Amino acid sequence: MSELLLANEPIVRLSFFLGVLAVMAAWEVAAPRRRRDIPRLLRWTNNLAVVAVDTVLVRLAFPIVAVGMALAAERQGWGLFNIYAAPAWLAFACSVLTLDLAIYLQHVMFHAVPALWRLHRMHHADLEFDVTTGLRFHPGEILLSMAIKLAVVVALGPPAAAVLVFEVVLNATSMFNHSNVRLPQGLDRILRLIVVTPDMHRVHHSIHPSETNSNFGFNLPWWDRLLGTYRPQPREGHEAMTIGIEQFRTRRDLWLDRMLIQPLIGPASGYPINREDEDG
Ligand SMILES: [Zn+2]
Repeated sequence: MSELLLANEPIVRLSFFLGVLAVMAAWEVAAPRRRRDIPRLLRWTNNLAVVAVDTVLVRLAFPIVAVGMALAAERQGWGLFNIYAAPAWLAFACSVLTLDLAIYLQHVMFHAVPALWRLHRMHHADLEFDVTTGLRFHPGEILLSMAIKLAVVVALGPPAAAVLVFEVVLNATSMFNHSNVRLPQGLDRILRLIVVTPDMHRVHHSIHPSETNSNFGFNLPWWDRLLGTYRPQPREGHEAMTIGIEQFRTRRDLWLDRMLIQPLIGPASGYPINREDEDG
């Protein structure tokens, strides 16, 4: 099973990416959660262009990425699970959980450190919240998070298949939990016990700092509940709430060229967690 997955890595990644993107896009048309004000063409072309830039830059910057690093660590005997033998299922489950916790902590860090917030705020500056928001990350953030992931892989020594499954699932859940879809409330309540739902993550894209600095999870909802950053609903409700941040609120700010230079524009103030004047 693992060999089959790893041998077909590019096709596994691409088919999940395109498949989940198509399903969520169709679902957004069939059962939208919020009214759409900005033409899809403007946001989608620019958000997907960011994905293309990110993909090319990661390929150019790293001779080896996370799955390759896991295979190298296995050959070299690096990392916890390559030093201490554990049953395969245990190594797999612990690796996926640890990678998810690492992503959660990294996300908190990107909100807490002003220089990192400059990179991450481009994700938050999207003026609407839909499946393509879940793909819109500044190349600086993507490169830095790949470097962090490589370090985690070297320390942990996870099975390569666990890294691939984690990355594919994270890509899929990020598209799911950013999508503008309406889920029956009862279903949302049950689902958010095991996965971050769109209603749970939308709170994180509120313009209010206290809401932006909550619900950091992308995949598993448990870290927010365990570590005290969980906020069930936005105070203005899902339909009335304002999406985005106070900076970068024009349609021109949604263009690729503007997105790429956002880290250099204006102050980093406003949203980092440790700022002094919290709005409650
Ligand atoms: Zn964030």
